[in-house]
Amino acid sequence: MNNAASTSGDLPGLEASAKVSPSAAMPAAAARPRVKPVDRSQLTWQMLDVERLIEPEHPARAIWELVGRVKLEGFYAPIEAVEGTAGRTPWDPRLLVSLWIYGYSRGISSAREIARRCTYEPAFQWLCGLGAINHHTLSDFRVDHAGSLRELFVQVLGVLSSEGLVSLERVMHDGTRIKACAGSDSFRREERLKEHLAAARQQVEAMGDPREEEPARKEAARRRAVRERQERLEQALEELEQIREAKRADKEQARASQSDPQARVMKQSDGGFAPSYNVQLSTEASHRIIVGAGVSQSGSDFVHLIGAVAQVEQNLGNKPAQVVVDGGFTSRENIMAMAEQGVDMIGSLPEANPSSAGQQRQRGVSEKFHLDQFSYDAQQDLYRCPAGASLTPKGREFCPGVVFHKYVAKAEVCAVCQFRSECCPGNQHHGRSVVRAVHSPVVRQFAEKMQTEAAKSIYRQRGAVAEFPNAWIKDKLGLRQFRLRGLLKVGLEVLWAALTYNIQQWIRLSWRPALAPANN
Ligand code: SF4
Repeated sequence: MNNAASTSGDLPGLEASAKVSPSAAMPAAAARPRVKPVDRSQLTWQMLDVERLIEPEHPARAIWELVGRVKLEGFYAPIEAVEGTAGRTPWDPRLLVSLWIYGYSRGISSAREIARRCTYEPAFQWLCGLGAINHHTLSDFRVDHAGSLRELFVQVLGVLSSEGLVSLERVMHDGTRIKACAGSDSFRREERLKEHLAAARQQVEAMGDPREEEPARKEAARRRAVRERQERLEQALEELEQIREAKRADKEQARASQSDPQARVMKQSDGGFAPSYNVQLSTEASHRIIVGAGVSQSGSDFVHLIGAVAQVEQNLGNKPAQVVVDGGFTSRENIMAMAEQGVDMIGSLPEANPSSAGQQRQRGVSEKFHLDQFSYDAQQDLYRCPAGASLTPKGREFCPGVVFHKYVAKAEVCAVCQFRSECCPGNQHHGRSVVRAVHSPVVRQFAEKMQTEAAKSIYRQRGAVAEFPNAWIKDKLGLRQFRLRGLLKVGLEVLWAALTYNIQQWIRLSWRPALAPANN
């Protein structure tokens, strides 16, 4: 059937005068909808009120305001351009600081991404006044001002403190591992690192003298990458020595990452292992403000507490009155050190006695022969085992906050004992030994304090306060893996993130937007 004829030709049975228009004659479902056409061939001007790109209560305004309230002399100092002279005018550090903080607050830690968003996203456009910022400028700025960034972190703490948001009555300290910018498969032994280094040196030599010619941009970037690779490999060989010492590993076994030589393989919260850094955060309990932030290559937490307390004092002029930590930090050394400094420490004391139930269970000792089944005779200074044999003193070991007294049974007595396999399995040549731990008064007082309900109640608050910024920095700011490499640069990333977190807390708790937006 000819559809054209049926829709546009004469309809049978109708006079010409009674004809209806084709569209009226068509069933409704067959009518073509009428829509506005898109015209992309036009040129047009648009009015844009930059000030109104974002609403008055937008966090970008708060960041701009707070950064404007602190002194940024350290950031301005390297600027050589001065008023009235020729030359390129650099971007205002206040803007670059604000862009990075706003970027981190949105979970963006890439300089390229921030530069891109400055071209279309209202808050970024508002911050830079529609200016186009090169990602190299942003990238260099993030790492070129280590001292000034620390000063800025302290100044922001000062602002928060002046508004009553910081109290050092109680500070919770915790550590969290953040993955390095390196894969697990980037670790190499010394021999392989030397091979790669030799190849990299050959590549660098083949490139010739960098001063002789001005290569094209792509080629220059390639050459820079080759040189950086050589530097990383040289650093990896240097780091190997430290790794050997720290792990007491054989020369052949020690391995360093050729991507980030200063990263270390650390255990993760999910039980796996990955190249990481150990991020240490001190958080005050009243408003969960981060009062100290640091990064370490050591996977152990307890070595960081003394330094963390010192950093809080450096940042705010006073030590915390009380510091709350988990078992990873509660070593006897730390208990003694905190007591010496007049800092009240709250934490769980791990049992370090070699004769503790846990340790004996690990050695396969039956519960019937754990230390608590041996009786101590203080008058004669000896132990009696469940079979009635005596264990006499055999030396002492002095450790911070504790003295370990060792007692040993006669080997010939244990050798013929019917309980030998339950009491000292695997011990073929010596008598059974036990250790009595005599804690210093400070450690005893700490242990007694931790038995009280008041101390237990404080300790129960630890997780909610100390782990909050860790989770925020990872989940909200997206810092689950560092973008930069090396201890110094990842330390700066942590500082940017901690600064962003604190400013977000200030916005949430204290900032009130101006009634009318002002572009000052
Ligand atoms: S093995 Fe030695 S210490 Fe153990 S129950 Fe026998 S005699 Fe006592």
